[in-house]
Amino acid sequence: MKSFKEILKEIKKYNNVVIARHIGADPDALGSQFSLKELIQTNFKNKSVYAVGSIASRFRFMGALDKIDDLDPKESLLIVLDTPDKKRIEGIDNLEEFASIIKIDHHPFVEKYGNIEYIEDQASSTSQLIFKFALDNKLKLTKKIAENIYIGIVGDTDRFLHDYTTNETIRLVSKLLDMTNIEFTKLYEPLYIRPLSEIRFQGYIYQNLTLTENHVAYIKLTDDIMKKYEVDSAAAGNMINDLKFVQEIIVWVFFSEDVKSKIIKANIRSRGPIINDIAANYGGGGHIYASGARLTNWVDAENLIKDLDEVAKNYLAQ
Ligand code: AMP
Repeated sequence: MKSFKEILKEIKKYNNVVIARHIGADPDALGSQFSLKELIQTNFKNKSVYAVGSIASRFRFMGALDKIDDLDPKESLLIVLDTPDKKRIEGIDNLEEFASIIKIDHHPFVEKYGNIEYIEDQASSTSQLIFKFALDNKLKLTKKIAENIYIGIVGDTDRFLHDYTTNETIRLVSKLLDMTNIEFTKLYEPLYIRPLSEIRFQGYIYQNLTLTENHVAYIKLTDDIMKKYEVDSAAAGNMINDLKFVQEIIVWVFFSEDVKSKIIKANIRSRGPIINDIAANYGGGGHIYASGARLTNWVDAENLIKDLDEVAKNYLAQ
């Protein structure tokens, strides 16, 4: 395993640095991306750093993305954050052309695509790793860097609720706040504010969940339903974690139809059974208790429910 010192050494070699992360960027993907970009810019003024991919409008307060059309990849370093496999990297279609590739991630290992890979699959978030990288190399922090690191950690731990929120996470966050004095409670409003239409849609989900005998809850959210509630196909994904402590539910999955991309996005969560290997069988993946997949038809959705039900049944029998 590579060290943060080696990563910095590699960064120092290049004037152009491109930072990418996974598709469907969440606060941790964006928090780690924007904080690393600003870290490099703040500490190495002569470097050009580009953050690539696309961003949902509700996360624009975290930062802006860049274009790299005129960049020569052969002269550039690519850093990919929070992404265990090539197919999930957004905004880069010429990976092999980059002079060097660094991966920093907290997902379980899927495949090697970087010449330097730093993976801590028990870390709360990639943003936590970026902060460790900064500390280890004694890099200067700004308020904006600290805010994005904080948002990333809070996003992926769901406010310090999930597994992998460890003593180290709390220690690091405390250090981050001491060092930078950010007003962290002010960050919750932009991060969590939602339109009333989404709250009504959440009500629809709660009213219409199906629960199997083996405590798997699921709902199929068609385009028609989302149109009726005036929400987009990403809305349900933002609500999936809210079912974490429901007595009767140990595994739960939301299926959201996305007619534009012709996929059905599955958000899968668990309070016990391991689910990422099942998600992988449907071309998806993720963490052991938080996974996702992009399905192409409702038959696969039915089969996925059956597989999750089976794993829940075995778990309950133990
Ligand atoms: P989500 O339900 O989209 O919040 O994703 C939960 C976890 O699963 C995250 O760690 C994602 O990176 C991962 N994940 C989501 N969708 C996919 C997919 N299609 N393929 C692989 N991993 C995924």
